[in-house]
Amino acid sequence: MKLIRSARALQRLVKEQRSAGLTVGLVPTMGALHQGHLDLVKRSASQCDVTIVSIFVNPLQFGKNEDLGSYPRRLKEDSILVEKHGASVVFAPNVHDMYEQNHQTYIYNNSVADLYCGAYRPGHFQGVLTVVAKLFLAAEPDRAYFGRKDYQQAWLIRKMVKDLNWNLRIVMVSTRRENDGLAMSSRNEYLSPEQRQSAVQVYQNLRQAKDDLQRGKSVSVVRKQIARKLKVVGADLQYFEVAERENLLAQKGKLKTDGKYVLLIAAYFGTTRLIDNLEI
Ligand code: AMP
Repeated sequence: MKLIRSARALQRLVKEQRSAGLTVGLVPTMGALHQGHLDLVKRSASQCDVTIVSIFVNPLQFGKNEDLGSYPRRLKEDSILVEKHGASVVFAPNVHDMYEQNHQTYIYNNSVADLYCGAYRPGHFQGVLTVVAKLFLAAEPDRAYFGRKDYQQAWLIRKMVKDLNWNLRIVMVSTRRENDGLAMSSRNEYLSPEQRQSAVQVYQNLRQAKDDLQRGKSVSVVRKQIARKLKVVGADLQYFEVAERENLLAQKGKLKTDGKYVLLIAAYFGTTRLIDNLEI
């Protein structure tokens, strides 16, 4: 396992590997890895000769009052895990390796990035797209792997790649869930035992919402239902929206019978914000 700290060093290594005819897969993460992340690593290792896992808690994508300081960091354990699952390189730059002191250049999407999570986390997706672009330039991957769990993020990254004619393939991997349906997330560790029990409601409500919408209920009625049910278990709905998968724009009222949609949800359990989604 190679541990690389700077973009320059990674570029050098990848250049050698590519000139030896090897294909490169990149799995961007913020660490504190769980089985969901490892599914991405396994997929990359099965499709690419070299798998690079980046582990970087990107300050650009955190808001002022968010959990940047407390976000779990455990590079050593993470490196062992990814090696076991087929990665050969960990790229773990520190903030100063990643961003020049006077960093001024950003990537932003001026449409979908302001919806859903972006509406509540201003600048979040600009931070995500900027770091992902920098990772793509450092690792020059043939394929990069992202979880469907962060649906809007993966959608925006695909859009960036398409809009900029970037020559790589984005692979989206299914959401890994706990036995009771809760989507795995590094932030689940913040939940108290009671909150952890209630958190299963996020996915349960999505499944119920799917049935209700398909039976003809309107988005606003379903949204009110979800807010009420979450309130009962002490959680707060931040948003529930239904978006067309193609353009990620919100659908109001009832769904079209031939439409392809994704249900998007964010809710607070105490101070912990969880997101999930379900394609229908
Ligand atoms: P993060 O470390 O939270 O930035 O996540 C790194 C990558 O892992 C992102 O592409 C996420 O979408 C993906 N990921 C996170 N949780 C899951 C999950 N439960 N199942 C599948 N992929 C996930």
